[in-house]
Amino acid sequence: MTDKPSNSKADKLVEGYRRFREVGWNPHRDRWKSLREGQQPDVMIIACSDSRVDPSQIFDVAPGEIFVVRNVAALVPPFETSPGHHGVSAALEFAVQVLEVKEIMVMGHGECGGCKAALTRELHGTQPGEGGFIADWIGLLDEARDPIAQELGTDAREAELAMEQAAVQVSIDNLRTFPCIQRKTSDGRLKLRGAFFAISDGVLHLMDEQSGAFAPVS
Ligand SMILES: [Zn+2]
Repeated sequence: MTDKPSNSKADKLVEGYRRFREVGWNPHRDRWKSLREGQQPDVMIIACSDSRVDPSQIFDVAPGEIFVVRNVAALVPPFETSPGHHGVSAALEFAVQVLEVKEIMVMGHGECGGCKAALTRELHGTQPGEGGFIADWIGLLDEARDPIAQELGTDAREAELAMEQAAVQVSIDNLRTFPCIQRKTSDGRLKLRGAFFAISDGVLHLMDEQSGAFAPVS
C-alpha cells in the first residue's frame, strides 16, 4: 500500500493499526504469544465512554493488564435480578468470579457529559433512542444529584464537579450491593477504589476511602 492521503475515518484507523503492528505488536511477540493462552489482569477499571479518558492510555498499561468496562458516566448499577440485559453486571461477574481481580477502580472524569445531563435533567422525559436510554441510565445518579442541585444549582462548574465526584461514590456504593463483591471485600480479597481524571490539566485524583475526598496524585 502507498501513503495516499486518507479520506475516510476508517483509513485513519487503519494507519493507526499499521503503527500498532510496528511498535505494539512486532517488538512484543512473546508477550502476545503468552496472552494467547489467556488473560490474568489484577485490576478491573470502570470508566466513562468519553473519548478523552482511555484507561489504557492514562495508566500506560500493556495488553492483558486491566479489564475494562466503559459506559456513559462510568456507572455501576445496583445488583438487580430484573429481566433485561445486565452488561455491566455480567462484566463484573466475570472479573470478580472468573478472573478474580484484586481491585476494582471506578474512574470518573472532568467535563463529563453524562454527569452534566444527570445534573440538568435535560434529557428527562425523552423517548428511548431520542435521549431516553441515557436519561434512564443516568437516573442512577438522581439521589446523589438532588442535594447538589439544591446547594449549587445546575449550571456552575462547581456543581458539575460535585456531580462527577459523587457519581464515583454512587458506583462504589452500588458495587457493594453485589453479594460476591461484599464477600470478597469483607475478607480482603478485593479492594474498591475511586478515582477521578481531570481532563483540563491531565491530573489523576484518588478518592480517600474514609472521607470520600479526592486528592491529586503527585
Ligand atoms: Zn463522561
